[in-house]
Amino acid sequence: MNVQRTQVGIIGAGPAGLVLSHLLHLHGIESVVFENRSRQHVEERVRAGVLEQGTVDLLTQMGVGERMQREGLVHYGIELRFNGEGHRIDFKDLTGGKGITIYAQAEVLKDLNNARIAAGGQVLFEVEDVAVCDLESSHPKIRYRKDATDYELHCDFIAGCDGYHGICRPSIPSHALTEYDRIYPFGWLGILAEAPPSSHELIYAYHDRGFALLSMRTPHISRLYLQCQPDEDIETWSDDRIWHELHTRLVSSNWKLTEGPVLQKGVTGMRSFVVEPMQYHRLFLAGDSAHIVPPTGAKGLNLAVSDVQILARGLDEYYSKCSLRLLDRYSEICLRRVWKVQRFSWWMTSMLHRFTDDNPFDQRRQLAELDYVTSSRAASKSLAENYVGLPLDPLE
Ligand SMILES: Cc1cc2nc3c(=O)[nH]c(=O)nc-3n(C[C@H](O)[C@H](O)[C@H](O)COP(=O)(O)OP(=O)(O)OC[C@H]3O[C@@H](n4cnc5c(N)ncnc54)[C@H](O)[C@@H]3O)c2cc1C
Repeated sequence: MNVQRTQVGIIGAGPAGLVLSHLLHLHGIESVVFENRSRQHVEERVRAGVLEQGTVDLLTQMGVGERMQREGLVHYGIELRFNGEGHRIDFKDLTGGKGITIYAQAEVLKDLNNARIAAGGQVLFEVEDVAVCDLESSHPKIRYRKDATDYELHCDFIAGCDGYHGICRPSIPSHALTEYDRIYPFGWLGILAEAPPSSHELIYAYHDRGFALLSMRTPHISRLYLQCQPDEDIETWSDDRIWHELHTRLVSSNWKLTEGPVLQKGVTGMRSFVVEPMQYHRLFLAGDSAHIVPPTGAKGLNLAVSDVQILARGLDEYYSKCSLRLLDRYSEICLRRVWKVQRFSWWMTSMLHRFTDDNPFDQRRQLAELDYVTSSRAASKSLAENYVGLPLDPLE
């Protein structure tokens, strides 16, 4: 067994792990990132694409925002479409000038990987059998196998940034955690299409046949979603059937959906999940390893970034002032924001999807809610300020 040492061991090279590693580097703190998939796999995975203003500002301050500033699409609103009519929510007006940026998660990860490598950072891909141990001690350890050799890394702290299916959360004794879960009776069938987006801004459509979303990744690539069964068999959805359903659900007068070759398609289940607390001794959970939101509010990546921003400040305070004060409050500070974002993501999901047990009353109520949200300035403002991103809670 080869024994090594670092200050912070990070499991997972997704947005949470890579942002944390680079933030720590900027504070002069050493870390090693472990990822069980290949770099190519991580950088090609089709996932999120909406960045809150705070995420954009952070990536820019970290020095990894140059390509995002050049290629990202800045939006100052979204459209809510129901009864065949569109209603714009004007973020700029309602939030004092804030907006969102469309820039694919895969591109964010490429920029972060490049920055870590340029700075001499250690990001180890394709590691096997990653395990965390001695979590109750002041020097927790990460064991792993790389190129047929076993290693043990001694750390001051471990960050569990390994997503919902990772090993960190299950390594914590179950009596130390409480899980809060809600599984929705539907999923999203998503496609990536080589077609210029048919709208400058995202369109969220409520329709009798279910929810549809028009989004995009670049000026040439559209990302579109349809509400479907959670266990929908993608093989039964030909490209023609997908386009036909999108045309039906997104219908509006004087507007046309542009089709193009489908580059990728898949079905994603929808759940809300939170674990409390997000910390066990010197192991800190961040991002999807601690919480999952349904994608309707476009928050998963952004929430991962806000968690590690708080964690990085706590670790900086520990190394610069020998103080655990902020780290001890990590879970409490994160969870306050996590629950607000959970509420918003659940609310958007509930307002826009058809539920299996809904009835004409529920449909009328959903339409009344959409009418209210798009006609009341107070209600539009509430949607807008959540969508562009709530500020980080003050840490003092
Ligand atoms: C299929 C899918 C589609 C999504 N689509 C959208 C979307 O359209 N819009 C949206 O807003 N959000 C979307 N999300 C959510 C968003 O992408 C996540 O919230 C975001 O990736 C969270 O970042 P993270 O770093 O916490 O976790 P992840 O990005 O999941 O990163 C965790 C990393 O840990 C690695 N890992 C796992 N186990 C181990 C292990 N044992 N050892 C080492 N490494 C390990 C994984 O390979 C992964 O690279 C989607 C998520 C998924 C899964």
